[in-house]
Amino acid sequence: MARPRIGVLALQGDVREHARALGGAEADAVAVRRPAELDAVDGLVLPGGESTTIIKLARMFELLDPLREHIAAGLPVYGACAGMILLADRIDDGGSPLHETIGGIDMAVRRNAFGRQIDSFEQDVAVDGLPGGPVHAVFIRAPWVESLGPRATALGRVSTGRAAGRIVAVRQHNLLATSFHPELTGEQRIHAYFCDMVRKA
Ligand code: GLN
Repeated sequence: MARPRIGVLALQGDVREHARALGGAEADAVAVRRPAELDAVDGLVLPGGESTTIIKLARMFELLDPLREHIAAGLPVYGACAGMILLADRIDDGGSPLHETIGGIDMAVRRNAFGRQIDSFEQDVAVDGLPGGPVHAVFIRAPWVESLGPRATALGRVSTGRAAGRIVAVRQHNLLATSFHPELTGEQRIHAYFCDMVRKA
């Protein structure tokens, strides 16, 4: 598979930026809005946005069960920010109403974890397995990983500040998730890493 065909779930969020990053990582990016389009991809990106909205739209577009089935069958999926929330088996919001996820990664995430007063911030994050030094990570109302089950591996953590040590990049077999948005900074190594996962799947 020289150039994998990678879908970007195009219900909400920054689809174009992910498509651009995938193109830079030697993949063909296609928008996915229907089950038949999902059947035709080698991998899938879940972009950021609002996870509650994306879940509602996925149900409306009859994509929720097909997404779960493809994930169970081993489809490689990368989720950024809201996409990370969607890939989490559990949400731990400290008592606020929980909502449904797609699931797949054995972890609990906390939504808007960095605090509402800090809407967004940037920080360098070292990510295991990426060549060439830390990623300049942009966090926008981002989640963090509250707890990780034994089947998932932390790839990156916040290095300084109040949230130091919090897990913000995770992998479990064919599933990859980051709290931050690599597609917004011209960073292509996360997408290249994911394309590599797709090629090897
Ligand atoms: N706060 C959003 C959510 O809970 C995620 C934000 C983002 O994707 N940039 O879904």
